[in-house]
Amino acid sequence: MVTLAAIFRGFARHARTKPWTPARWCSLSACSSKYVLSQVHPMWRTPLAVPGGDRQSPVDIAARKSVYDPGLRPLAPRYDPRTCQQVWNNGYSFLVEYDDTTDKSTLSGGPLEDRYRLCQFHFHWGESNAWGSEHTIDRRLYPAELHLVHWNADKYSLFEEAVMEENGLAVLGVFLKVGKRHEGLQKLVDALPAVRHKDSVVEFTKFDPACLLPENIDDYWTYPGSLTTPPLTESVCWILLKQPIEVSHDQLAVFRSLLFTSAEEEVQKSMVNNFRCQQPLKGRTVRSSFSPFL
Ligand SMILES: [Zn+2]
Repeated sequence: MVTLAAIFRGFARHARTKPWTPARWCSLSACSSKYVLSQVHPMWRTPLAVPGGDRQSPVDIAARKSVYDPGLRPLAPRYDPRTCQQVWNNGYSFLVEYDDTTDKSTLSGGPLEDRYRLCQFHFHWGESNAWGSEHTIDRRLYPAELHLVHWNADKYSLFEEAVMEENGLAVLGVFLKVGKRHEGLQKLVDALPAVRHKDSVVEFTKFDPACLLPENIDDYWTYPGSLTTPPLTESVCWILLKQPIEVSHDQLAVFRSLLFTSAEEEVQKSMVNNFRCQQPLKGRTVRSSFSPFL
């Protein structure tokens, strides 16, 4: 049984209990695939907290409708591999967690006014290579999507404070496509069998998340949105890189060999299709750092 508390701990670490607003169900009509997530994972069977609800994620990015903003600066990720600590199967994805008690691994620049600390990264993926990403570009689905989660350490003192606030989080999204084996990712792939079951944790150090970024990080889209997992708070500045990274089918197969379930559970469930339904844009503007017409 996945409790909301456990999920919250996964994506909003060290959270204190706060009263949650009434629930809204995942809108199945907006799903990015025919798969009904509520049948896939217990996370989506429970009523969810959706404060506001006008800037939810993920969304489809219509490239030609995005607005080129020449004021968007280059991104400046500065990651120290020594802050990498562990990999954790939280029952929905696997999280590579970083020490965020100092400013050693940060993201700034781009649309961000402040400096944001990296606390974890994780992926979303499908059961086949035909789908799996949360965001889509012109309705194109990628087989997986990487999320590097950062919180605003200039304005807030703790992740759990930032997660509830405007300009609290910055999530850098990278699409994965199938191609040649990704050498940087392989070190992480090799660690995954140790966290096959839910709630397993293994030490994982000296991993530079910058190795998972594509060559071109200057071209990106950005829009105001939410976490795509409970508590779904609308505190995220999304930054989605235009250039995907290539990983091999075999590497994605290792993602799919993980389990939603703990070792004690009788029926084991493969960790696949761990993405949220797409959400309506509701009048939001998606800005791009590049002109699609040049
Ligand atoms: Zn995510």
